Amino acid sequence: MLELQSAEVDSRRVVHIGPLAIGASRPVLIAGPCSVEPAYPEHASALADTGVDALRAGVFKPRTHPDSFQGLGLDALPLLAEARRRTGLPLISEVMSPAEAESIGEHVDGFQVGARNMQNYRLLEALGDLGRPVILKRGLSATIDEWIAASEYLRRRGNDDVVLCERGIRTFETRTRNTLDISAVVVARELTDLPVIVDPSHAAGRREWVPALARAAVAVGADGLLVEAHPTPPEAWSDGPQTIDLQALADLYELVLDTRLPGLRVV
Ligand code: PEP
Ligand code: MN
Repeated sequence: MLELQSAEVDSRRVVHIGPLAIGASRPVLIAGPCSVEPAYPEHASALADTGVDALRAGVFKPRTHPDSFQGLGLDALPLLAEARRRTGLPLISEVMSPAEAESIGEHVDGFQVGARNMQNYRLLEALGDLGRPVILKRGLSATIDEWIAASEYLRRRGNDDVVLCERGIRTFETRTRNTLDISAVVVARELTDLPVIVDPSHAAGRREWVPALARAAVAVGADGLLVEAHPTPPEAWSDGPQTIDLQALADLYELVLDTRLPGLRVV
């Protein structure tokens, strides 16, 4: 039994984002504000002090309504550089077009493709060609098979540095922002060799529910967590209600440190 599980662990892909290895010895913790704000270097330092492994660094924000804050865009590049200088942590930033990826490529260590762009195939092909690591979020109403098929668009271009991210799907339930499909972690890890991480923030929609969903994700074998965190969540420029504070983030870091050998955790 143990041999079988070890074989499964051995065949899993480890994806490197800068110095960070995802799918290796323990779940990783990637955290940061929903969007980069002018105080981002200070935010990044405070978040780094809690022990996180990498930082969210969103500057192009895919907002449902065009009147909502759209991100600082290229004006944020000096903020990213300063955060990198202060923390030494890898930065991950969402892009919505190949041109955006080119424009911030030097300033980040990995790209995120958001739920709304999971099936933007020209974007996926361009990111495949760039060959940089990509966190591919599951689409709002995408099946697991469609999500994995989307990852193939990156891989067919020779980029296997892909991390799948479950972030909740749209169901009839409206109490939560989305319904966290915890089964998807188990199933996607069985169907692919790619690491699978979980974003409990966009699933829950409320910061009070994030720690419990994060624990559930780790319990089923997730290779990491992608969490919205901010030193003063009520002041966050976007997604404040689902953003956790530094204490809650430090607790999540304890959680991931306590969990080793992901492939052997679940029996
Ligand atoms: C995000 O992580 O900033 C984001 C927009 O999430 P999603 O694409 O999952 O909605
Ligand atoms: Mn957000």
